[in-house]
Order: sequence, then structure tokens, then C-alpha cells
Amino acid sequence: MSENCNHNCNSCSANCTDRKENKTDFSEKLHDKSHVKKVIGIVSGKGGVGKSMVTSMLAVTVNKMGYRTAVLDADITGPSIPKAFGLSEKASSNEFGILPVKSSTGIEIMSVNLLLKDDSDPVIWRGPIIAGAVKQFWTDVIWDNIDFMFIDMPPGTGDVPLTVFQSLPVDGIIVVTSPQELVSMIVSKAVKMAEKMNIPIIGLVENMSYFKCPDNGKDYKIFGESHIEEIAEKHNLNVLAKIPIDPNISAASDMGAIETFNGDWFDTLAKTLEKL
Ligand code: ADP
Repeated sequence: MSENCNHNCNSCSANCTDRKENKTDFSEKLHDKSHVKKVIGIVSGKGGVGKSMVTSMLAVTVNKMGYRTAVLDADITGPSIPKAFGLSEKASSNEFGILPVKSSTGIEIMSVNLLLKDDSDPVIWRGPIIAGAVKQFWTDVIWDNIDFMFIDMPPGTGDVPLTVFQSLPVDGIIVVTSPQELVSMIVSKAVKMAEKMNIPIIGLVENMSYFKCPDNGKDYKIFGESHIEEIAEKHNLNVLAKIPIDPNISAASDMGAIETFNGDWFDTLAKTLEKL
């Protein structure tokens, strides 16, 4: 096994003894003028657990640490990244390709909403077209010397996660979950999908874990007891962060001010990524 093995033979050219060849290679070529060092997917078993919030806040944390950071919004039918960053400008292009929009702190962002004339227009496309758009965000967009690219995936185990796992050199995924019992069963599906596809799982993040009452300082488990440790143990994974329900988080993303929000929940996770 190579010294720097990331267990993803699709993103590595080392011809080692442990190499697992894909009979069919679906990998897509990054745009000639792009440079992207690490690609991290943010996935969840179901919608509404805070996957886009985790993607945005993690990107903000890593960017603050001085890394060149990008967000590829692969949630084509439910894109929420541009709103969280308060982007109103549309993506432009030059003779070589499409240029991502830069957030106020310099994070490069590409999302279908940055291409639509009116961002409330729905995307009514069939699966293969949606998956094709995600591939184009990789092949046709000029990403400028990116250290960490975060991919906000649509929930579940459908067409787009499959496309991203097969076509992009994903270095690892972070699985976002919330404490409800049902979610723990669904999150296992997402974890097992990544395992089957040989995508390294960096760990789990539990969002909406608890609510700290500002009046008495006590923690309340609004969605019930957490099952995250059980899931983590079952799949031999690390719990990377537990994030409380905080009305300031939803207010910041609603107001497009996610970059100004201060929270240190992602610092440890960002340091884990630094070691990749
Ligand atoms: P997903 O991407 O999983 O569908 P989102 O990140 O869009 O979920 O989050 C759904 C909603 O919940 C958003 O309005 C978001 O601002 C809010 N939200 C997410 N996490 C929290 C949290 N920890 N505290 C308060 N609101 C949150």
C-alpha cells in the first residue's frame, strides 16, 4: 500500500499491490485551468438535517484558517448555498470556461442558482441531466488554485451522489445527521453507500443535537436522545462535531450572513481536514 493511501484508487495513480481497478472508469477530467487539491463531500441520508449549513460553515472555518476554499453546490434541485452567502451576482464566463462567484471573504462558489436568471425558478430536469450539470461544475468551471473544495450533495443515495462518487476524485465524505431515530437508519444507508464505493468516510457530524437554554444554561434534547455514538461504533467512525440548535445559525443563513457568524464547532473538524 502506498504511504499516502487515501483508499480511493480513482483519485490516485500509484500502481500498488492494493490497487482496486474499476472495470469502468467514469472519472471526469478537471478543467485544464483549474487546480483543486482536496475534495470533501458533505452528505446526509435525508433533507433538512443541516447539510448545507455544515458545508457553508465548514468552508468559512477552513477559509479563515488561510486555505483557498471552494463550494460546489451539487444540490441542483434545492440549492441553498448562494443564499447562505448572500450572493446576488450571477456566474460569468470567459473564452476558457465558467467562472465561479467569489463570496465576500473569497470563497469560490458554483451553484445552479448562480446560472438561473431568477433564482426562484425551479430546476425541472430528469436525473441524468442533473447529474450532467454536476459533472460540468467540475469539468467546465475554472477553479483557481483551491486547497479545499466542499461539495454540498443532495440528500439520499440517488443519481447525483452516485455521479459524484464515480466521477470526481472525492478524498472523503462527512455525513451529517440529526438525533431522530429514523435518521439513524437512513444515515446508515449513506454510510454503506460510501463504503461500497470505496469512498473514505472522514466522520459524522450531529446537527441539532441539543438546545442550550439562554435563561438557565441547561441543555435540552429537543429531538430526543442521540444515536450518533451507536452509529459511529457500528461503522467504526469518528464523531467529528455536535452542533446545537441555535436560532442565530438559521438567522445568519437566512440573511446571507453565514460568513459573519462566529461559532467554534467546526475548529476540530477543520484541523482533521488539515491533516489529510
Ligand atoms: P439540508 O441541507 O440538510 O437540507 P439546511 O442546511 O438547508 O439543511 O438546513 C435546513 C434549515 O435548518 C435551514 O433554514 C438552516 O438555516 C436551519 N438550520 C440548520 N442547522 C441549524 C442549527 N443547528 N440551528 C438552527 N437552525 C439550523
